[in-house]
Amino acid sequence: MVKHLGLKAYGKINLGLDVLRKREDGYHEVRMIMQTVGLYDRLDLICRSEPGIRVETNLYYLPNNENNLVYQAADLLMKEFGVSQGLHIRLRKFIPVAAGMAGGSSDAAAVLFGVNKMFGLGLSQQQLMVRGVKIGADVPYCILRGTALSEGIGEKLTPLPPMPQCRVLIARPGISVSTRSVYENLRADRLRPEQHPDIDAMTAAIGEGDIHRVAGLLGNVLETVTIPAHPVIGQLKEAMMDYGAEGALMSGSGPTVFGLFTNPRAAEDAYEDMRYGRGTNLAKQVYLTNFYNRREQG
Ligand code: ATP
Repeated sequence: MVKHLGLKAYGKINLGLDVLRKREDGYHEVRMIMQTVGLYDRLDLICRSEPGIRVETNLYYLPNNENNLVYQAADLLMKEFGVSQGLHIRLRKFIPVAAGMAGGSSDAAAVLFGVNKMFGLGLSQQQLMVRGVKIGADVPYCILRGTALSEGIGEKLTPLPPMPQCRVLIARPGISVSTRSVYENLRADRLRPEQHPDIDAMTAAIGEGDIHRVAGLLGNVLETVTIPAHPVIGQLKEAMMDYGAEGALMSGSGPTVFGLFTNPRAAEDAYEDMRYGRGTNLAKQVYLTNFYNRREQG
């Protein structure tokens, strides 16, 4: 049996995010274009002879009990399969927390994959996804990775061809937004048609590998809630365009903003300026990364 597994849990951005309606059970029905990026958390899973799950993280403000999504993921599988050994999970976070990049969901996805492998449970990727959605709507996608169309509450996934590579500048302003309140304040039925992103056109542009067209079609309906409440999100988007991005958008429910750059030099200059120059007042955390298109976990 494998005693120790080292895993990487990658973050995502939304190239498109549309909300169709609120369902009776309170969930929102969405249509999203998901894209994995090269920014990741590191996880070590260590098998122990004493039963129980122990979680250790590098961030003091994250729960290290059953409220951590990695605990929930391990517990779900270990209970179902009556695993008698224990598990120590060491989590080192690098993906911004509560930022719209699905960091917690990706950590949970990595743990589902790891526990399945470590204890030889024999679950297929599809079977892991069915269990993952119980932990969070984005978990099935984080198991799949790459470029994908996500529908339903996030559990209906259609893999899309990999996007041509480009530089992705990620900037997180020093504000917090609650995902729940963003969705509660969204009035999807009152929006004008042009406020909804054209997810079908984007799916077609991705199929054609047309990064310029994809950049022109970026759209996130949740910006109609967050930008009026937090103008810095709009300012960050404008700054990205001034630096030469092909397109810029808020990811998920925010507040993280990303810019897509086909000119690597412009992306590096923008990164430098946001880290050390006049752009430092806009963002608290800045990263320069790529699309990550490999689907296999590990
Ligand atoms: P999404 O894009 O799916 O909305 P997010 O980026 O907004 O995700 P996360 O970083 O996944 O949000 O975490 C949101 C909350 O979940 C945090 O406030 C944190 O307390 C809690 N949480 C539980 N487990 C984790 C984890 N492993 N990593 C990060 N946050 C976690």
